[in-house]
Amino acid sequence: MKCKRCGERAEIQLRSHNAAFCRSCFVLYFQRQVERAIHKQRMFTPQDRILVAVSGGKDSLALWDVLLTLGYQTEGVYLALGIGDYSEQSQHKAEAFARQRGASLRVVELSEDAVAVPVAAQFTNRVPCAACGMMKRHFFDRAALEGGFSVLATGHNLDDEAARLLGNVLHWQTEYLARQTPVLEPSHPKFVRKVRPLYRLGELESAAYAFFRGIDYVIDECPNSVGATQLHYKDTLNRLEATMPGTKLNFVQEFLRSAQPAFAAANDSPPQTCAECGMPSFTPVCAFCRLLQEVKRKQERSVA
Ligand code: SF4
Ligand SMILES: [Zn+2]
Ligand SMILES: [Zn+2]
Repeated sequence: MKCKRCGERAEIQLRSHNAAFCRSCFVLYFQRQVERAIHKQRMFTPQDRILVAVSGGKDSLALWDVLLTLGYQTEGVYLALGIGDYSEQSQHKAEAFARQRGASLRVVELSEDAVAVPVAAQFTNRVPCAACGMMKRHFFDRAALEGGFSVLATGHNLDDEAARLLGNVLHWQTEYLARQTPVLEPSHPKFVRKVRPLYRLGELESAAYAFFRGIDYVIDECPNSVGATQLHYKDTLNRLEATMPGTKLNFVQEFLRSAQPAFAAANDSPPQTCAECGMPSFTPVCAFCRLLQEVKRKQERSVA
């Protein structure tokens, strides 16, 4: 198999694009795809200050690497979730990445600023991912606001977007469908623009990019991801993709082109302001503050 761009021996084949690339052409291809998404979706410009949410995994570090290579003004934010060895390892990888590139990384300790994910799950009978996802949203929004950033970028890839879309469609979660877009403009003065520059690039592509660029990322998955619903959706989509290459990209692209604007138009109620923390919320007290109150109440009761 030959590289589509230079004719040298190919090292990676992209069936959905009917193309193969050698190592250096693939790196260029990946960076150009990200650049194209940024321009086409008007995500940000070189004047923006971008906060990149990094987990220590392949996607967020690949994204940060591309943005640094393209010369954008970035800083990283890492959320220490308190999930044992997994959190320790991923923080170590994120910090090493930032140090090697002379980039700035903010670390937020959930156990100090709120409550670690396992404790939140234990005291609220929530699945860990529900508590974790909500706290991530709260702290990333807050870090972007407090740091005066104009954009918050996350490393969600095509597989994440397709799985999320499948889940939202299966349950007809129209409010979530309205907000599922690679660029979410702020709907509240305390929100910044949220962008997903990897939304057209698959999981295997970001893993290959990270590998070819020598990025040392955490390979182990979070222990809480075992059995997660999202993985079932990904598995189903992978089987469809194996027999019909391009299914995931088409699913997401066609949704964004023909369906998402209709959901967005029908669900345009902006968030209010949380009475406790002052962050945007769709209820008088936000889900994050309610979670903390619940944990506190149950912790006190268990001590008593
Ligand atoms: S798998 Fe769940 S608990 Fe683990 S990092 Fe992801 S959302 Fe959080
Ligand atoms: Zn090549
Ligand atoms: Zn709140």
